[in-house]
Amino acid sequence: MNQIGERIIELKSEMPAGVGLVAVSKFHPAEAIEQAYAAGQRKFGESRVQELLQKCGSLPSDIEWHFIGHLQTNKVRQLMGRVALIESVDTEHLLECIDRESVRAGVVTRVLMQVHVAREETKFGFLPEELLEYFSQRRFEQLQATHICGVMGMASNTTDTSRVSADFARIHEVYARILETAPDLRGFDTLSMGMSGDWQLAVAEGSNLIRVGTRIFGERQY
Ligand SMILES: *Cc1c(COP(=O)(O)O)cnc(C)c1O
Repeated sequence: MNQIGERIIELKSEMPAGVGLVAVSKFHPAEAIEQAYAAGQRKFGESRVQELLQKCGSLPSDIEWHFIGHLQTNKVRQLMGRVALIESVDTEHLLECIDRESVRAGVVTRVLMQVHVAREETKFGFLPEELLEYFSQRRFEQLQATHICGVMGMASNTTDTSRVSADFARIHEVYARILETAPDLRGFDTLSMGMSGDWQLAVAEGSNLIRVGTRIFGERQY
């Protein structure tokens, strides 16, 4: 087996059952994805629309593409029908745009709401209270062709593991409070947290979907 495949098998052996793996292939070539695919990997994460579309056009059609980057509304149309999950919905405006474009394309788009808890000011996402208000006011009922499947979040970029764990716990709490607020939400079951450096901490705090790039594919060449 190739090295990428071996790293996936090893990582999976460390992951508890019930946790899914998105192999984050951004900035890596299609050949790297093919190696992961040969090892059985089917979920891949990309952060740029053009790159996702190029790869999606040349790689097997049973790959589930996850969009994980900041998404501009003027690019939403291009993604319709191409992605299994948009993990990074960070504003209501973007969500409305995805819904409108999904209706227009005749597809249902699955999304996660990105919640912002980390300290860095540059990170995208809803504040916890904004997200809770969105659900308590049941604004999701206006969506026609978008299925909100859960929450995605990132921890602060720090070596302080207690801080990282606290951030993940906070994201989990937001997810749990949404379910309490709207217990009738259907298929709201995904808590996407954890990357190469912190996925164990994320899983310990309840993550059921991790997004791992570097540990599988090596360092990215930007
Ligand atoms: C790039 C990226 C990852 C993967 O990060 P690694 O540290 O390479 O595992 C995970 N999630 C998001 C949102 C990313 O942008």
